[in-house]
Amino acid sequence: MSGFADRVERVSISGIRKVFEAAGAEAINLGLGQPDFPTPDHARQAAVDAIQRGEADAYTTNKGRRSLREAISDKHARDNDLAVDPEEVIVTAGGSEALHLAFEAHLNPGDEVVIPDPGFVSYAALAHLAGATPVPVGLRDDLTLDPAAVEAAITDDTAMFVVNSPANPTGAVQSVDDVRAFAELADEHDVVCVSDEVYEHILYEGEHRSPAEFAGTDNVVVVNACSKAYSMTGWRLGWVAASERRVERMLRVHQYVQACASAPSQYAAEAALTGPQDGVAEMVSAFAERRGVILDGLRDLGLDVPTPSGAFYVMPAVPDGWVEAVIERGVVVVPGEAFGERGAGSARLSYATSLDDIEAALEIMGEATAAVDG
Ligand code: PLP
Repeated sequence: MSGFADRVERVSISGIRKVFEAAGAEAINLGLGQPDFPTPDHARQAAVDAIQRGEADAYTTNKGRRSLREAISDKHARDNDLAVDPEEVIVTAGGSEALHLAFEAHLNPGDEVVIPDPGFVSYAALAHLAGATPVPVGLRDDLTLDPAAVEAAITDDTAMFVVNSPANPTGAVQSVDDVRAFAELADEHDVVCVSDEVYEHILYEGEHRSPAEFAGTDNVVVVNACSKAYSMTGWRLGWVAASERRVERMLRVHQYVQACASAPSQYAAEAALTGPQDGVAEMVSAFAERRGVILDGLRDLGLDVPTPSGAFYVMPAVPDGWVEAVIERGVVVVPGEAFGERGAGSARLSYATSLDDIEAALEIMGEATAAVDG
């Protein structure tokens, strides 16, 4: 019988894609989850050079080129004060594959995975694909994840919980106390904490800390990528960092589903990580300006919107029918429920787009708000 796998039937195509498909070609897109900046020249050039030297034609080692893993190890020492041995790293096809490896290697059918709700769309889907059950927990009013709420959701079946700071879709950044508390939960309950740090550098207030800094066990698995920090979403280059025994298990999955990350992208990533970092700061300061404009604009419309401290998203509470009214008028925003049940009644707006687009979109959102308010 040529049926389909139950675990695949439990997953559907992301709600974000559906919104894009519904919008016209002329629409202003505040739905995108990627920076609107070019990849730094030195990163592009490193890939071009490697291709021209003929060094990017073949498979690399499964874990990724040693010199890239050394650059990742140096990055963790520089940015996170973390000692990560190059052997404790697997280079992956984006943060997406890194998450997939972490879930596949650690979850059994029937296990529970505690995830933020609203949260990044992959967490629930990857839990299902691993045969596990996602357990969504709600957020605080400021849209951060409360360690106490995670602890309350932990049962004998919990194998993992996910922390994402700065977060998609909320832009919320966890406090240092929260991050320490997440590490303690991982230690005390002996569950894996997957820490998704792909927005680490896109930060306006507070500081980015990793639970890996505070954990007394090897229960924290760090996921990161070049995608957002260096505007390299198309290069598909990320990594997972964890203890050797965890890396060895994740490598078993990576070896058979991916073999190795794309070789040209590995050269570009190494240059991005080791080269000048000022492009990141320039991008973040552009996002900071846009954040101010979109927050003021939304508040002027009477919408309630927590100030996001990181990433490039805002998540206002919106009246019934608002998302549809905005999309009908040609602005793409993503309905909050695409990120979990508790996202209902809100919308995710990305400001990784030009100021002109943001201003034009605010105008249209004003018309939509008036129409919905009647
Ligand atoms: N984690 C979060 C929170 C994200 O928002 C994304 C992409 O949007 C990813 C991981 C995956 O990133 P990548 O493009 O590196 O696969």
